[in-house]
Amino acid sequence: MGTMKNPPSGLVQHPGSFFRRKQREISFYFSTAFRLHAVHFLFCLLIIGVHTMLMSSPLMNRFEYVFLDFFFRQRPPIYQHPAIVHIDMAEDSLRVIGRWPWARHNHAALIRILKEWGAKAIVFDVIFSEPSTTFDDESLLEALKESDNIYLPNMLEPLGNERVWIHSLPEFEKFAKGTGHVNIFPDPDGALRRVIPYLDYGGEEHPYLALRVAYDYLGQPLPEGKLPFRTDGEGKIVINWAGKWKDTFRHISFVDLVKSYSVLKQGGKSAITPQDVKGKICIVGLTAVGLTDIKANPLEETYPAVGVQTNLMNSILTKQFVYPASRRANLLCLLMVGLFASATFIFFRQIISFVAGLAWGGVWVATAFAMFVSRGMWVFVLNPLLLIFSLFVFSSIFSMTVGRREQERLFALATRDGLTGLYVIRHFRVLLNSAVVEACKKQTALSIILLDLDRFKTINDTHGHLAGDAVLKKLAQIMQEIFPEEKKKKGKYVVGRYGGEEFIIMLRGCTLVETAFGFGEKLRKRVEQEVFIHEDKVIPLTISLGVATLRPGETVPDMMVHRADEALYRAKTEGRNRTCVELEIGRE
Ligand code: GH3
Ligand code: MG
Ligand code: MG
Repeated sequence: MGTMKNPPSGLVQHPGSFFRRKQREISFYFSTAFRLHAVHFLFCLLIIGVHTMLMSSPLMNRFEYVFLDFFFRQRPPIYQHPAIVHIDMAEDSLRVIGRWPWARHNHAALIRILKEWGAKAIVFDVIFSEPSTTFDDESLLEALKESDNIYLPNMLEPLGNERVWIHSLPEFEKFAKGTGHVNIFPDPDGALRRVIPYLDYGGEEHPYLALRVAYDYLGQPLPEGKLPFRTDGEGKIVINWAGKWKDTFRHISFVDLVKSYSVLKQGGKSAITPQDVKGKICIVGLTAVGLTDIKANPLEETYPAVGVQTNLMNSILTKQFVYPASRRANLLCLLMVGLFASATFIFFRQIISFVAGLAWGGVWVATAFAMFVSRGMWVFVLNPLLLIFSLFVFSSIFSMTVGRREQERLFALATRDGLTGLYVIRHFRVLLNSAVVEACKKQTALSIILLDLDRFKTINDTHGHLAGDAVLKKLAQIMQEIFPEEKKKKGKYVVGRYGGEEFIIMLRGCTLVETAFGFGEKLRKRVEQEVFIHEDKVIPLTISLGVATLRPGETVPDMMVHRADEALYRAKTEGRNRTCVELEIGRE
């Protein structure tokens, strides 16, 4: 069914055809909900893909340090090897002995005491690079000669554009059991997290001092080439901070040790006894706040640089390491988090999905923390967290959009007539009622047109009910087309299906004769001229119309509709295919 302009299409297909049935079966499986979920999931995969790319961004990695530092802070102190003892040159010792640097006979005295008390190794974090007074240098040399377990540091220092190795004086170094570098290079954010195991420059290669001491203590040769434990991607050792400086490792004050020695010699009872250092690795370092602190240490604001030696030694002796997860492991974590979060956001909405998103975030951070504590594995935490957030934001927008569209669809379903697409009378009445209220308030005109198809029964009888339906559909289309689009949008012209083959048009701001009647006539002539065709047969169609307007004092549309109905009746009785206007007051 259709007109000359639009060849028939909808009626060709038999409703019960094979294709229709098949289509229905398929659409059962690929229902709208399923399709929406599939689209949602595809977008989620896309977002996961974007986040995998973020993984190699240096900026992103810098933010990941925040979580590493956070984990170090939250973790309880790790096991500390009992052989590690710190000889602290802290504020109390500086007060007694004097300002730094100290005369070298003090170090000579310390060496002698530690040797006498049976220390296993004495590790200096002090470089004796310049000659001092003859007395001092000779006393230190004597002490060094007498002991066979001293470790001395060296350092690669910048010198203009070049770099230069700083050693202790050659005669001192000759009597050291071992040497090693003490350089520490901060990460781009200024915090110190890694140690270079072997520093190679200008034909000299030195292991990190703690590495040398720890392997000597274990009685094992220094590893050559690959280290026997996990490092970061560049072969650096991630420092496994045992805990806060004051809460970890055994600390002995330099000055207390010397005092205890003399107290013991005089037969008194000392705070520190030989048992405290016997068989131990004694690390001698400056720990006074402000002298050699590491900047932006993840554990606390100030941390003595010598502590890096201690922590690394502890890692090797206790086999507790921290290492960044491989790219594969990080990818896997990101994918798992992404898929779980996507599934949650696809199936839950609004507040539940928000709570679920928070829960996933919590579960993920807890999992990452557990991996860090139990295995020393440091996975990227922030990126998966951001992924959960991105997926949540996307999913919220997605479901909001889908929800709105669904709402619009349901609204149309409830207010529009299935055959013609025009408003059903129930909804039309709502619109008409509010138009009447507005017209009353603003004192503006409001008219309606009631129209009925002429001899429609005959059309049904002659051409069949389907043809009748198609005629109704086409007529509805004409009724919509005839009104200017922008006026329809503003709700000036509203068309509804009044009954079976009766229609009603509301014209806001239209007076009776000049406009409402004018429109009615325009529509009538247009229908009269239109050629309705069904199965190659021309169906002539005319309509009858009744026009009425809202009268002053009327606050409901009922009487106006009644008058339009009367006018329509007159149009029918006066011969059809015409527009009749309601009778004037007094002639009703
Ligand atoms: P009149 O000129 O006096 O209006 O004559 P008529 O034949 O059009 O009479 P009436 O308005 O009473 O006809 C109503 C007919 O419209 C009855 C019914 O078969 C038909 N009709 C109502 N709704 C539909 C519909 O949705 N589709 C079809 N095909 N026909 C309908
Ligand atoms: Mg009728
Ligand atoms: Mg009729």
